[in-house]
Amino acid sequence: MSRVHNFSAGPATLPEPVLQQARDELLDWRGVGASIVELSHRGPEFMEVAAEAEADLRRLVSVPDDYAVLFLAGGATTAQALIPLNIAAPGQRADYVITGHWGKTAVKQARPYVDAHIAASSEADGYRDIPPSRSWEMSPDAAFVHVTANETIHGVEFRDIPEIGDVPLVADFSSSIASEPMDVTRFGVIYAGAQKNLGPVGVSVVIIRRDLLDRAGQPRADIFDYRSHVKGESMLNTPPTWNWYLAGLVFKWMLAEGGVEEFARRNARKAAMLYAAIDGSGGFYRNEVAPGVRSRMNVPFFLRDAALDKAFLAESVQAGLIGLKGHRALGGMRASIYNAMPEAGVRALVDFMDDFRRRNG
Ligand SMILES: *Cc1c(COP(=O)(O)O)cnc(C)c1O
Repeated sequence: MSRVHNFSAGPATLPEPVLQQARDELLDWRGVGASIVELSHRGPEFMEVAAEAEADLRRLVSVPDDYAVLFLAGGATTAQALIPLNIAAPGQRADYVITGHWGKTAVKQARPYVDAHIAASSEADGYRDIPPSRSWEMSPDAAFVHVTANETIHGVEFRDIPEIGDVPLVADFSSSIASEPMDVTRFGVIYAGAQKNLGPVGVSVVIIRRDLLDRAGQPRADIFDYRSHVKGESMLNTPPTWNWYLAGLVFKWMLAEGGVEEFARRNARKAAMLYAAIDGSGGFYRNEVAPGVRSRMNVPFFLRDAALDKAFLAESVQAGLIGLKGHRALGGMRASIYNAMPEAGVRALVDFMDDFRRRNG
């Protein structure tokens, strides 16, 4: 077996020890004689898996007791629609700060339910920077303010999310949750699809301050109601047990590796190594994002000569590096370097980039 370094943005690489454990447990989970995915979600085995995953995630990102944690089917996009349904009155104003593609999808999903107001957007500049918070046009009566902590496609990340006062802050952390310490108490709702930093696609995590569950929200079916999911402990219907189980293994791996403090150090080193290779290439490679808001998780970059893109991609695969093709909206390349990407993977990428530049520069 030979595993390559996988820089895909999502679904993304998973920690090898997690995949090995899942393989070892696949046919016979802890001596039960059946796979965890063949067992009832309400049986003692899966209940234990589910409870451990929640406890481990709470420990990992320091979630206080006055926040509920949900593991739900549906992705981050689903949360972008459900959050307004649950915490805004019909047609109520909500402020959106758009720093990339995913902020825009959040507005699109919210539009049927709220007066989605663009408080700030860097779209006109190609999402290369984050508009300064003093320029944000905030609505005092907004139900919430929405931000995207890390824009996965455009490679733009808030280093510090500005203070916005008393209006609850809703943040899409799909591609940066658990990549560094965070202060959960600053947020009303944090949501993340699992397939970037937490596990396999098919489950998403919603961390919601419990007082927001008292808001009436909008007419909605039980299955779209976060209160019901909290009451039902994310088992209102059959949850995505396999995905939840695998995410739980990833949480245990992250804790064993030293938790988010350790990943913050590793992620800073990985990002510094890659940006240095780009910036030090004499213009052969370039990243166009303002240095203060460059993402530590997703690094889009372009070759000076786009005619070399094809050769770069083909040769990178030969070198055991996959998933480097940029998002179709931007072209060029993108390296996603989440928690599960080892420093050796980024080292291999940088070595390949240097070698390719010497041969083609
Ligand atoms: C991937 C991603 C999404 C969309 O996730 P889905 O699970 O496909 O709905 C939303 N926001 C961010 C920041 C993402 O990276």
